[in-house]
Amino acid sequence: MEQEQVFWERVLQLAKDNLKQSAFDFFVSGARLVNINGSIVTIFLDSPFKKLFWEENMKSVMLTAGFEIYNEHLKTEYQFDPVSKEEKIVQDNNKPFQNNSQQADSNPTYLANTPFTHPDIKPQYTFDNFVQGDNNQWAKAAALAVSDNLGGLYNPLFIFGGPGLGKTHLLNAIGNKVLLDNPHARIKYVSSETFINDFLEHLRLNDMDNFKKTYRNLDLLLIDDIQSLRNKASTQEEFFHTFNALHENSKQIVLTSDRNPDYLDNLEERLVTRFKWGLTSEITPPDFETRIAILRNKCEIYPYEFTDDTLAYLAGQFHSNVRDLEGALKDIHLLATMRKLTEITVDVAAEAIRSRKQTNPQNTVVSIDKIQTEVGNFYGVSVKEIKGAKRVQHIVHARQVAMYLARELTDNSLPKIGKEFGGRDHTTVMHAYNKIKTMLAEDDQLEIELTTIRNKIR
Ligand code: ADP
Ligand code: MG
Repeated sequence: MEQEQVFWERVLQLAKDNLKQSAFDFFVSGARLVNINGSIVTIFLDSPFKKLFWEENMKSVMLTAGFEIYNEHLKTEYQFDPVSKEEKIVQDNNKPFQNNSQQADSNPTYLANTPFTHPDIKPQYTFDNFVQGDNNQWAKAAALAVSDNLGGLYNPLFIFGGPGLGKTHLLNAIGNKVLLDNPHARIKYVSSETFINDFLEHLRLNDMDNFKKTYRNLDLLLIDDIQSLRNKASTQEEFFHTFNALHENSKQIVLTSDRNPDYLDNLEERLVTRFKWGLTSEITPPDFETRIAILRNKCEIYPYEFTDDTLAYLAGQFHSNVRDLEGALKDIHLLATMRKLTEITVDVAAEAIRSRKQTNPQNTVVSIDKIQTEVGNFYGVSVKEIKGAKRVQHIVHARQVAMYLARELTDNSLPKIGKEFGGRDHTTVMHAYNKIKTMLAEDDQLEIELTTIRNKIR
């Protein structure tokens, strides 16, 4: 380990030992060692007012570490301007993975303690706040596995699914996890649009060497919305070489797309073939319970109570997109702030999201009638039989599927659904819902049946 880093780690250790955790978090964790020049240590602080704290409380720590590591009386200076973004990118790209012993002395570097900031990775998207459900558990597991073993079995990892289902979130979560474990990992996150623009810009400036250097010397390339590369022949060509260079060196690639690789028309076959070399994982829309769990997770930051009814109501309004759920919470926040509300009832929620619902074609209101009719058509059972009392197996199955879909696709309460099914009790609806849900987990055929029916309903 380089001596500067040994010194800095000793400083952090001594600070931790001597300060209260809260003081350490606030005054020390954002600090960085810029460099040590002769006997002058330069420290970056993210705010000038923290300097006083350092002068008063960190003096003995700095002295101790200086004598221990350099056997010298070091003087401390402070700096408050962060390094420019460009400079930082260059440094990141030059940093060898898991090995910071080769950093050039002439090149001042921040020896970061966590959290480490990265120019293109969003710190707010982590595994911790990614709510797991049946719809995304495999994608999440694969993403976690990749973060723990870059360039291993799942290379590339290809995640696909509809808009607003958490693909970008997972990509960033991988980046954040890898950075946390290895602050010096060379990572790049780009949307395909950015990749195209970057490529064209470097081409225009006749600077392809730098482009290659940036994209081929990585430990992890996270590339979002790969479907956007369609019809961009020259960019695809370049991406092909980037892919090969990374893959041959066992460097990890993670891609996302709005569709299955098999449906990536207008993308070169040789690329698509490569996308399927590793692991392909789909994210589907979250079911009702997962939508509730996501809402619960996201509404924690707001200073008012959401009743359970409200959460169930919201989960019933937006089926196919987590972004819409978040949007709904923002609408509610606006209204709640204006009216200084302390509790969010169904009425308030309904009022807040009214305009969002009207502008969202995906959320056309589905009626229980329509569900009963389409389920009946599919299984060859009449609506009367669905509502009736007969206990013949295929009728019971159709009835339970219809109840399940009524809970999934409408915002009706359980008692209301029960009423629409010949005046049944709400516990019967709950039982049907759970039963179908359990069956779905084991029965692919049923999943296909439900998808077919859903498509008829919408
Ligand atoms: P995509 O890239 O698939 O279009 P995003 O990753 O941008 O979707 O997700 C849209 C929003 O929904 C983001 O704010 C993201 O944090 C949130 N989101 C999606 N899925 C989840 C989840 N399972 N848990 C928590 N938040 C989620
Ligand atoms: Mg996205």
